[in-house]
Amino acid sequence: MSEWRNWSGDQRCRPSAVARPNTVADVSALAATASASGGTVKAVGAGHSFTDIALTNGVQVCLDGLSGLLTVDRKAKLVTLAGGTRLHEIPALLAPYGLAMENLGDIDKQSIAGAISTGTHGTGLKFGGIAAQVRALTLVAGSGDVVHCSATENAHIFAVARVGLGALGIITSVTLQCVDAFMLHAVERPEPLADVLESWQQRISELDHFEFYWFPHTETALTKTNTRYAAGSLPAGVAPLSTASHIFADVLISNTMFSALCNVTGKLPSTIPGVNKMASRLTGNREFGDVSHKVFATPRSVRFREMEYALPVEDIPAALGELDIMIKRRGLQISFPVEVRSAAADTIALSTSNGRQSGYIAIHQHIKTAPFEYFKAAEEIFLSHGGRPHWGKWHFLQSKDFAALYPDLEKFCRVRDGLDAKRVFSNACLDRVLP
Ligand SMILES: Cc1cc2nc3c(=O)[nH]c(=O)nc-3n(C[C@H](O)[C@H](O)[C@H](O)COP(=O)(O)OP(=O)(O)OC[C@H]3O[C@@H](n4cnc5c(N)ncnc54)[C@H](O)[C@@H]3O)c2cc1C
Repeated sequence: MSEWRNWSGDQRCRPSAVARPNTVADVSALAATASASGGTVKAVGAGHSFTDIALTNGVQVCLDGLSGLLTVDRKAKLVTLAGGTRLHEIPALLAPYGLAMENLGDIDKQSIAGAISTGTHGTGLKFGGIAAQVRALTLVAGSGDVVHCSATENAHIFAVARVGLGALGIITSVTLQCVDAFMLHAVERPEPLADVLESWQQRISELDHFEFYWFPHTETALTKTNTRYAAGSLPAGVAPLSTASHIFADVLISNTMFSALCNVTGKLPSTIPGVNKMASRLTGNREFGDVSHKVFATPRSVRFREMEYALPVEDIPAALGELDIMIKRRGLQISFPVEVRSAAADTIALSTSNGRQSGYIAIHQHIKTAPFEYFKAAEEIFLSHGGRPHWGKWHFLQSKDFAALYPDLEKFCRVRDGLDAKRVFSNACLDRVLP
């Protein structure tokens, strides 16, 4: 079989076969066949995880044939989508009903099942990750049985399956709690990093969606503040970005310029601090408004590797300070900005926000730059603050490390034993991270 690669291109595998089911019965048959023959199957979404979590030597199950809107309860604002539906397809599916997803991450290329399976999140202390928007799931277990779960049906499965790491079954449908369609007013500004850290807790508590990017080797943070407004009620004078300025800011500045700079700075690392100072001045000084999904998600054309840890929100300023000291002490030249976000606590077993509000720190390296010294040293800092790694992004933890991070890990494992006793859905990543 031909080689499969993830988005960043560095995670590769050669599945024994690729299956493209069009019905839940097809998915069932794939799992049952694997179970009977001692084989494995692995669902893949958009391949946007940075880790080996979606890799397989067994049968790769591409869910693109199971896509689209299945049911809508307009009054309850509940929407059921097929598991392979891509996030960027959802706004058009919801538009006729005047509904939207409550919150999104930086991009919208992922599948809904893939996004929730690794705990994908956006920013906003009043809002959970995408998995927290889920009200019911249907999945195909290792035996081929179809299992439905919600808070009232198979509640023990629902408690763990929303962030299931692809370990519990193949998700064929997801019911989301949506909200009335809304607009966002976006304000993006360069600000002194010290001021941003000083006001971090206040801003995340008071603002709807606050995040910032800090360019290492500078004292500047680019802040992004998105405020929610009912459809059609943006403040006077706030307009969508013109296509030209959208392309200029997002593609030319954030992506193409990064790519050009990373290519240059990859060869001449000593230029990075100066380049970062220039980038922190050139990017992020604008104000606009638009329908929610157009503001939440932006294009990402530069390929990179990413590590992201969830920390207690109050630890963010100290952890960033330690990151700065570590970068200076080791003489690392870091060309990508560090992204800082927040999310509400939830009760999902393996969610990075389980039982506590999260402050997220994401670090990146251009795909052509070896990330390991930076990532490993940063991970030590994040772990010293009780950090939990994003399941779809780089980390170096193993199963023995997770028991202390997740009080409900045992519950997850018990459900896994019930749904996939024969480990039909296992791969090297799950063998490494789960007991
Ligand atoms: C450029 C970029 C930006 C990103 N931005 C963010 C962000 O803002 N916030 C954030 O939290 N994360 C972000 N991520 C990470 C990304 O959201 C997650 O890694 C997500 O899991 C990718 O979804 P996917 O559909 O590509 O899933 P894949 O990477 O294809 O798969 C991920 C996991 O889900 C499983 N899976 C997929 N489909 C199913 C199914 N139907 N049933 C059961 N299991 C399934 C796979 O087996 C695998 O275990 C970003 C990634 C990239 C590359």
